[in-house]
Amino acid sequence: MGESSHQHTKMMLKDHKLHIKKKFGQNFLIDDNVINKIVDSAMIDKQTSVIEIGPGLGSMTMRLAKQAKHVLAYEIDDDLIKPLKTLFKGESNITLIHDDVLKRQLDDDINTYFDREDRVVVVANLPYYITTPILFKCLEESDKIDVLTLMTQFEVAKRLTASKGTKDYNALSVLMHYKTLSTFEFKVNRTVFMPPPNVDSAVIRLEIKRDRPRIDEPFFFDFIKEAFRQKRKTLINNLHQAYFIEKEVLKHMLSSLDIQATIRAEALGVQTLMNISERIRQDFF
Ligand code: SAM
Repeated sequence: MGESSHQHTKMMLKDHKLHIKKKFGQNFLIDDNVINKIVDSAMIDKQTSVIEIGPGLGSMTMRLAKQAKHVLAYEIDDDLIKPLKTLFKGESNITLIHDDVLKRQLDDDINTYFDREDRVVVVANLPYYITTPILFKCLEESDKIDVLTLMTQFEVAKRLTASKGTKDYNALSVLMHYKTLSTFEFKVNRTVFMPPPNVDSAVIRLEIKRDRPRIDEPFFFDFIKEAFRQKRKTLINNLHQAYFIEKEVLKHMLSSLDIQATIRAEALGVQTLMNISERIRQDFF
């Protein structure tokens, strides 16, 4: 693939008489600089194996394969499989899997296609209609993934990486801080896609935390949802409504943790929220 990704995309569409499918969230990247920046931010070397979700017309896949040990790419669209197989013919380190990524067992695939000692990263220009299910699948299903470098909608990227006290900070941001070191890498203008989507995009980097504290995760995840349920309400009001604990008792509990009674969840970082969650679980459940 010597030509630019823009030329490559046009050629693939024309040569294989392809139609771009909105239902699969197909917005193909046609800017080599953006592709290079994504690959750079994933820090890929010959000890790194890459999972790419949705190779599309293969521009980024080819770029990833140059730098990585192995690329495992999942593509759902029947019509793209033959063109991709032709494109990947001489590339011995690309494995194309024709399937819906949500139906795969990621751990089984990692064990089958990668070596045990590989560093494993996920790189994807995500189909936006299933960003959250894909993200949760990667975070929940495998403890072998080290880093996720993802293109998402700009607004989603801001929420996933938001810090406490900012307007984008919500339950999802807390969950990301709990599971990952999340970084907003760069904003991407809609004009670098064919066709351009209706929204701007951004690339984020999520580095999985290996040394997470031992807490009751299902309780904590439910607690975060409840703490942020009504953003304008105080934490005490939200918790009172969720757990039926008297406000005075909650006030006393917060005060023992040095937290003001008037605080809102959005002002608290992940560690403090974890402390409160564990206190409630131990004292009342
Ligand atoms: N990586 C290509 C690029 O950057 O130009 C294409 C990105 S496009 C935003 C998303 C790709 O994901 C499309 O090729 C689409 O067909 C594919 N896709 C959509 N849903 C999928 C799913 N459930 N499993 C696997 N691939 C999927």
